[in-house]
Amino acid sequence: MAGDDATMSRFSAAPERYPWHEALWSALSRQFDQLPHALLLQGRPGLGKHDFAVQLAQALLCERPRNAMACGACHGCHLFQVGTHPDLSGIGLLDDARNIVVDQIRALGDFLSLRPHTARRKVVIISPAEAMNLNAANSLLKLLEEPPLGSMLLLVTSHPARLPATIRSRCVRLLFRHPTPVVGWTWLEARPQTGDNPAQLLNFAGGSPLLAESLAREEFPQVRAQLLQDLAALAQSREHPVTCAARWKDMGTARILGWLYGFANDLIKLGLGAPDPALMNKEAVTFDKDQRNKYKISELYDFIDAIVENYRQLNSPLDELLILEDILIRWVRLSRLQSN
Ligand SMILES: [Zn+2]
Repeated sequence: MAGDDATMSRFSAAPERYPWHEALWSALSRQFDQLPHALLLQGRPGLGKHDFAVQLAQALLCERPRNAMACGACHGCHLFQVGTHPDLSGIGLLDDARNIVVDQIRALGDFLSLRPHTARRKVVIISPAEAMNLNAANSLLKLLEEPPLGSMLLLVTSHPARLPATIRSRCVRLLFRHPTPVVGWTWLEARPQTGDNPAQLLNFAGGSPLLAESLAREEFPQVRAQLLQDLAALAQSREHPVTCAARWKDMGTARILGWLYGFANDLIKLGLGAPDPALMNKEAVTFDKDQRNKYKISELYDFIDAIVENYRQLNSPLDELLILEDILIRWVRLSRLQSN
């Protein structure tokens, strides 16, 4: 494979197909022979966009693809699986770099200017595309404006708003959505190490199954305990929302908002006298009992509205820290309102 050694492993060996991608695969397979020269794969983190791009790249380089799926047996598939396909180029972040730089995109121009070696086309994956700095993006724009014959560019991003509009407008968008909860839980349940409450885990991951899976392997119980502890401290004025927001930001704003949404919903269910706490995600059940009984249902609904509104802002240039501060200040106000 052409491209950077450091990122090679991220672009070879297509992983499993996820059930929540099925609709996208069927749509693609219907027009597999007339795909546009550039696709923008966009959606929240943890939905498997990068894996989708890798699978699509293999299908595009396969000698006998069926239903947009690589055969897994031809010469092209073999080269792909061992990570040496000469017609595939993967552009990503190098080591500790913060940006994809112009030299990487220029090298791409050279790569695309030559005819394909063995496949019918050349395929490029740029992931995460929003990491391109301005020079890199401008350089890519030239390629998108006059795409070399037989080239196919797959741009992957969780933050499309950070890409120049000129780039976005020259790609056909492929939108990745969250799976329904049932599809997400079912997939999670079948994974090792995801514990006994996939609903809780998925909730914490903001509905993204892959994020939920990585959380299960990593720090989910500790992070959750920390969040509950912080919410109690904020409610009792033992902690300041600004300090707290700075700490939470590193845990990922989207997943925190997703978790808070479930937490506030649980508080409402408890306030309404939910018959069986086992039916809930149990987030709020473990929250300070004296405290949780004080919240008014109508105020909690307002809080949930604010969470949803802030979640929508995540794709805008608005700072994630400001979003978290806003939510935590609301939480403190809500908590004080109840204790007066
Ligand atoms: Zn094949």
